[in-house]
Amino acid sequence: LMGQMMQMPLLISSLITHAARHHGDTEIVSKRVEGDVHRCTWVDVELRARKLAQALARLGCEAGDRVGTLAWNGYRHLEIYYASSGSGLVCHTVNPRLFPEQIAWIVNDAEDRVLCFDLTFLPLVEKLAAQLPTVRHFVAMTDRAHMPAQTSVPNLLCFEELVEAENGDYRWPSFDENTASSICYTSGTTGNPKGAVYSHRSSLLHAMAAALPDGMALAARDTVLPVVPMFHVNAWGLPYASALTGCRVVFPGPHLDGKSLYELFEAERVSFSAGVPTVWLGLLTYVKQNGLKFSTFKRTVIGGSACPPAMLKTLEDDYGVEVIHAWGMTEMSPLGTLARLKSKHDALPKEAQRHLQEKQGKVVFGVDMAIVGDDGGMQPWDGKSSGDLLVRGPWVIDRYFKQTASPLHDGWFPTGDVATIDADGYMQITDRSKDVIKSGGEWISSIELENIAMAHPGVHEAAVVAAFHPKWDERPLLVVVPKPGVELTRAQLLAHYEGRIAKWQIPDDVVFVAEIPHTATGKIQKMRLREQLKDHKLP
Ligand code: ADP
Repeated sequence: LMGQMMQMPLLISSLITHAARHHGDTEIVSKRVEGDVHRCTWVDVELRARKLAQALARLGCEAGDRVGTLAWNGYRHLEIYYASSGSGLVCHTVNPRLFPEQIAWIVNDAEDRVLCFDLTFLPLVEKLAAQLPTVRHFVAMTDRAHMPAQTSVPNLLCFEELVEAENGDYRWPSFDENTASSICYTSGTTGNPKGAVYSHRSSLLHAMAAALPDGMALAARDTVLPVVPMFHVNAWGLPYASALTGCRVVFPGPHLDGKSLYELFEAERVSFSAGVPTVWLGLLTYVKQNGLKFSTFKRTVIGGSACPPAMLKTLEDDYGVEVIHAWGMTEMSPLGTLARLKSKHDALPKEAQRHLQEKQGKVVFGVDMAIVGDDGGMQPWDGKSSGDLLVRGPWVIDRYFKQTASPLHDGWFPTGDVATIDADGYMQITDRSKDVIKSGGEWISSIELENIAMAHPGVHEAAVVAAFHPKWDERPLLVVVPKPGVELTRAQLLAHYEGRIAKWQIPDDVVFVAEIPHTATGKIQKMRLREQLKDHKLP
């Protein structure tokens, strides 16, 4: 017997029509590149997305064509998300923080037909335009008044003019839910970046999971400020999950420093946010230095790299902001796990609860995970045995864009992370497989060592990399950026490890630096650090 329910494809257009119909007057607030604050509603976004879909068709875009963006978080970017995917085109968000050559490579690999960009990136586009043969139309995401008087970008179009020229008499088309909706490229720390092609179905299922109470717990009454950029794995799905739940959304534009963020959180009464640890470092430093508190900010997702326990503690204990530590990756749309407690954990002492919250967490329904040892055998879920972390699920990639070789092993996607899983299903990343420190054949977790250093009151940021050792092969080397005005010594930091970790795992040496290099998505660039420190002689 077959089910007898309606066949309705899961399409991204259904999110925006839902938001417009049921949360129509809910605001979308954007700090703009032009310098002001712009306000509109879900109704406005939906109507303008329809007009933009008409404009893209008028520019000659056909089903499956890629629409590239180089843009901050803002309402125009959101309109491109919905106009492109909703009309059967593919939204391709490009990370503008990558090297220009990488950006050109990615745009060419994706064969973007149209490239929309915020004015911030005009110089970048001017530099690259001639190297982007597939791009037929360049669109500046601004109005006529702010269009550059002169530019070398060929036939530069104005976003607002394109939208305003259309009447919005457009119906979102229906098509196969497995159609491509968007593409994101991995940052390519190894080799060229690779494209993950999401489908309407995968994006919708992911958005539903993201919104769940044990996910990001989004509700219509939330005001969401995605700090995580819309060019970083679709802002972790927030543009979709926000429409699905009808949240009010506040976009920070290019203003991501501590002061700008704090002022926006307060002025717009933000309740929920999400971002990488580096951003919270900046925000917390500003808030602390100025003796400020948050009046409405209640919950935040922190992920992209390990959330230092000290940051979790400060946010929760000093500022009353609940931290949801999350893990995922571009290839997973990106959500995999979130660290939320179960009711049986209510009885645990605070410290034990914290210990669980510090882990990367348990899967959201839809994601399945496993850890395997060097021999490929499944490792037990005992919270101790570690292994290569594998995942599978309807929003995990099956293959990379244009690549014939399958990345899967027996139907599982190898994440490149090394992890433990405990009996309750809480996963903890101990390292990237390439960042693990192998000392005399024993693994040392660089994340654990970094977390301990970050708990020292004088440490602003810390990274641990493997340094060559003649006897042990590799030994941990601690790299530290001290807090402004704080004098730290090697001896103080090494003493800080005593009693917090096995003696043989304590770093051999400390290097003080003014800055630690970060990737375009705000992660510590271990490869560059290793390169910079390759001649470092351990004592
Ligand atoms: P990239 O493009 O840099 O690969 P992703 O966002 O896809 O960007 O990176 C995914 C990787 O980031 C994961 O495989 C993992 O190594 C790391 N990561 C993400 N979230 C966490 C976390 N909460 N803790 C530790 N590592 C994390």
